[in-house]
Amino acid sequence: MLYNQSHIACHECDALLARVEVPMGKKLVCPRCNGTLRKPVNDPVSRGLALSITSLTLMVPAYFMPIMTFDMLGLDAVDTMVKGVLHLFQSGFWWMASLVLFCSILAPMLESGLVLMICLLARGNQYGGLLVTLLKSQSRIRRWAMLEVYMLGILVAYVKMIDSGQVHMGVGMICFSCMLLSTTLNTVMFDTHAIWEKVGQYRGELNENRA
Ligand SMILES: [Zn+2]
Repeated sequence: MLYNQSHIACHECDALLARVEVPMGKKLVCPRCNGTLRKPVNDPVSRGLALSITSLTLMVPAYFMPIMTFDMLGLDAVDTMVKGVLHLFQSGFWWMASLVLFCSILAPMLESGLVLMICLLARGNQYGGLLVTLLKSQSRIRRWAMLEVYMLGILVAYVKMIDSGQVHMGVGMICFSCMLLSTTLNTVMFDTHAIWEKVGQYRGELNENRA
């Protein structure tokens, strides 16, 4: 069986381009839309699997365990990320609550979940339509995951409140910081181009079989 490896498809504009070898550390750019086509890294699937499992596991304590504990005027209060969103909803700031819920909880969760599914399919050599849909969805949802904005908000609140009473960072904060780190690493380092290349090979092989 012959594999057609002469062309690759651009994931941004679907342009079909001649395949060239890209050395490690260099990148290949689409001449039509200027999108990055290829920036090779070692074993992208295993790295994606490890980082997405780490992020998803850390999300549970990061969202449900106390981010901060307050001891003000003799009153003890504990706040988790989920409680914060619920409090915004209850206070009538539904648009802000929806935005925080989507950008800080749902989008990062979806992104890591999608990377996990993509890596599992790639590991099982399933380069069909489902993988293509997941890859396109991951590239769209990635822009909405804004954990760092929430992190900045927590730090500003912490600095402002530290003078007016006893504020302590909770376990949730440590988990949130580690989750932010693993999610960011996954976003920056996940080599979707290596997987798109495999999709191109798979399509080439299908066309070869049809001919
Ligand atoms: Zn392109």
